[in-house]
Amino acid sequence: MLCIWVGNRRYDGVTHWLFATLIILVYAAIMAAQLWVVKLDNYASNAWLNTMFPNILLCCAVCLIVHGFHRFFKIKNSLFWLYGAQLFLIGPLYSYGLTAVTPILYSVIVFTVSISISLCFNAFYLLSYQAKQYGISRLICLFTGVLVLVLNFIRVGLLMREQSLVNSVEFSTAIAYINLLMSQCFLVFCYLMFCTQRNAFSLQHMSFIDPLANIYNRRGYQHAIAALIPHKEAAVMILDIDHFKNVNDEYGHATGDLVIQDIAAIIAKACASTCVYARTGGEEFSIYSPLISAKTMENLAEDIRLAIMQHTITKQTLAIKVTVSIGISVGQSVNVFALEEEADKALYQAKREGRNCTVMQLFVAG
Ligand code: GH3
Ligand code: MG
Ligand code: MG
Repeated sequence: MLCIWVGNRRYDGVTHWLFATLIILVYAAIMAAQLWVVKLDNYASNAWLNTMFPNILLCCAVCLIVHGFHRFFKIKNSLFWLYGAQLFLIGPLYSYGLTAVTPILYSVIVFTVSISISLCFNAFYLLSYQAKQYGISRLICLFTGVLVLVLNFIRVGLLMREQSLVNSVEFSTAIAYINLLMSQCFLVFCYLMFCTQRNAFSLQHMSFIDPLANIYNRRGYQHAIAALIPHKEAAVMILDIDHFKNVNDEYGHATGDLVIQDIAAIIAKACASTCVYARTGGEEFSIYSPLISAKTMENLAEDIRLAIMQHTITKQTLAIKVTVSIGISVGQSVNVFALEEEADKALYQAKREGRNCTVMQLFVAG
């Protein structure tokens, strides 16, 4: 009842923690019952069964705690499932390990391997370009991970030398839970950092997208081009809707917006994955394509122009038709800004030539 009461939107995530607390209490009760009621000999001989259920419970609790963070901070697409799957693998593996000939060594090895896998996953992100903006916190995170890993390896080494400890079930259990705690602290810490990273990344992504046309805006366009491998040959196409002011004046701004959306969708459909396309101005769109011949770019422009000309924008009883003028610039060893300038000149020429046409300009750096 308490969980349901707390489980409203405002306290999203807290419910998970409450359930986790309940599970941990059940887990503690089972462990206490096992320690006091079951004789140690029986316990040790059935360690696999005795510990599997409590371990799975503990894994559930840890998953819930992590998922609680996920909900509380309204984070989507997290690594929750990856960590969850890993935990569920470790629980039974560890339980099985208690029946092994050298259980303590086995359990430490399982956790060392598990934390190594996590560290590899995490290090991949932490060392990535996007994580650079987190400065010192990502280094602390990496350092913690490596420290936990080194401690685990040292422990394996020490245990291999100290044979008397290797077969002790109680000692093994204690060590394994310390390991579990340490590795989970590390995982949760990394997890939270990734979530922050993801949020920042999605914020950056949002700043690159035009909310009306749902394609890149000018910032996104420039960023996407800068991220491409520089090519010797490239082409830029600029499209501008003809007499768009009249559309707004005649049908209203909202209908004008609809026209922009439809044209953006036509462009997105026509462009290959190698093209970068964007709404770079009010009723102006740009397309950048590396490694494309003048003829192919011209064909693409004509395909788009004809598709727009044949398309009818409908809104209730309205049926609107628009046309576009296109300027293209194709060049070798020319930077994108120079190409854009030339494409813009070509566009003005297309406007002067009567609109609804394509003008191409071959551009050689001088
Ligand atoms: P031309 O053929 O010479 O390009 O004529 P035009 O009317 O298209 O050109 P002009 O630059 O005079 O007008 C552009 C218009 O686009 C003016 C502006 O109100 C409109 N516009 C710019 N951004 C938006 C927008 O986001 N939504 C709508 N509905 N209209 C917009
Ligand atoms: Mg314009
Ligand atoms: Mg226009």
